[in-house]
Amino acid sequence: ASGSDENDVVVIGGGPGGYVAAIKAAQLGLKTTCIEKRGTLGGTCLNVGCIPSKALLHSSHMFHEAQHSFAQHGVKFSSVEVDLPAMMSQKDKAVAGLTRGIEGLFKKNKVNYVKGYCKFLSPSEVSVDTIDGGNTVVKGKNIIIATGSDVKSLPGLTIDEKRIVSSTGALALTEVPKNLVVIGAGYIGLEMGSVWGRLGSQVTVVEFASDIVPTMDGEVRKQFQRSLEKQKMKFMLKTKVVSVDTAGDVLKLTLEPAAGGEQTTLEADVVLVSAGRVPFTSGLGLDKIGVETDKAGRILVNERFASNVTGVYAIGDVIPGPMLAHKAEEDGVACVEFIAGKEGHVDYDLVPGVCYTHPEVASVGKTEEQVKALGLDYRVGKFPFLANSRAKAIDDAEGIVKVLAEKETDKILGVHIMAPNAGELIHEAVLALHYGASSEDIARTCHAHPTMSEALKEAAMATYDKPIHI
Ligand code: FAD
Repeated sequence: ASGSDENDVVVIGGGPGGYVAAIKAAQLGLKTTCIEKRGTLGGTCLNVGCIPSKALLHSSHMFHEAQHSFAQHGVKFSSVEVDLPAMMSQKDKAVAGLTRGIEGLFKKNKVNYVKGYCKFLSPSEVSVDTIDGGNTVVKGKNIIIATGSDVKSLPGLTIDEKRIVSSTGALALTEVPKNLVVIGAGYIGLEMGSVWGRLGSQVTVVEFASDIVPTMDGEVRKQFQRSLEKQKMKFMLKTKVVSVDTAGDVLKLTLEPAAGGEQTTLEADVVLVSAGRVPFTSGLGLDKIGVETDKAGRILVNERFASNVTGVYAIGDVIPGPMLAHKAEEDGVACVEFIAGKEGHVDYDLVPGVCYTHPEVASVGKTEEQVKALGLDYRVGKFPFLANSRAKAIDDAEGIVKVLAEKETDKILGVHIMAPNAGELIHEAVLALHYGASSEDIARTCHAHPTMSEALKEAAMATYDKPIHI
């Protein structure tokens, strides 16, 4: 592909931020080139993140259900086993199909796609070392940096992606480890821990903070942790990993209380380092053109996604904000709308978060802790899935809906759902918050029966009045 003619928009990075920005720009009639070094589109999310993890979460859940639940539903068979290569190849097929799908969307929308590593020559010019060994210069009136993020390693640990792995290695293990230690109890650690736990690993999660997933509503988090513990996941909170001895066949971790104190040891076959992600800008030459970053290396932008250098924008994981694919996509669309002279908007208070374990945990808006800290007068409405007919019918009734609403106006402030399909259920609440709905608005909306969604309606009822079914 030749990128030598001047583009209206050049996007660096083909992840959910970059590829969506490129498609939207082309749809708005802007001449657009997207540059991606990986060889495939879709970024972290599609290649080594959201998609492969959800594929393995689903496959491992099916195995777990077959082992533990099918008989109860009257589905019997003599034996069930894991064929790990087949499970991995189903995951790889899903990823390959979707990345090719984006290439198709690029063609359809006439986005020029350059495969290679890109660095700035000037604020309107980049040089690309192409994957086929060549070099090309691409010019753009506007350049959007969407280079995403990378795994954060920990001091004293060397990730080899075999025994000490990042999420990337954890998505491609060739054997089920007997003992898996997960460092970091965030979404990624808990999801990958769930995958391998279901397939037979004893999973121990070591977390420096006093709680798992610190951004979660405290009450929901407690129930969530109990649920994971029932699934035999062990937690060592307020604990830090000092070192990992790799000399023997089994890894030996030295641990220490976060506040300091006596050291202990723990053995593992595989250690997953999931202690966060860092913005990725290496080799891009930001210094050369003077783009400002913060201490964490994130590119600083204004509300129009413009950096301090005219014509240079940034979106997604490489700027401050939640490191989530859908947030990156929203950034991408809004950024390009601004470039095209239109108005764009992302409401960062209403970005839903989902942990895709079983049950899933999904939330939008404020947690009870945040509402309290703001000093707001509020009401809480809760409804357990144990009282939801659909959840009982399918015997998958662990979980709760929690609605927080302002006392005086009944305006919804936050919704937190723990349920098998919470990640789908949450969007009714996202829309409600977006439109400034009250809990009564949800409660007076007719919900189909029997559905899990009725639990949200009942929790909304419980916020300002009484629920029917409990
Ligand atoms: P990225 O997806 O990181 O894409 C950036 C792209 O830029 C990369 O492909 C990179 O190769 C390319 N690039 C970088 N530098 C250059 C350069 N100099 N030249 C050319 N190309 C370059 N988020 C969710 O919302 N839901 C989930 O379920 C979820 N699950 C996740 C599971 C895992 C295991 C991981 C690791 C992440 C998960 N995430 C999830 C987070 C999500 O993947 C990121 O938030 C998202 O990918 C960010 O998109 P982005 O476009 O900003 O960056």
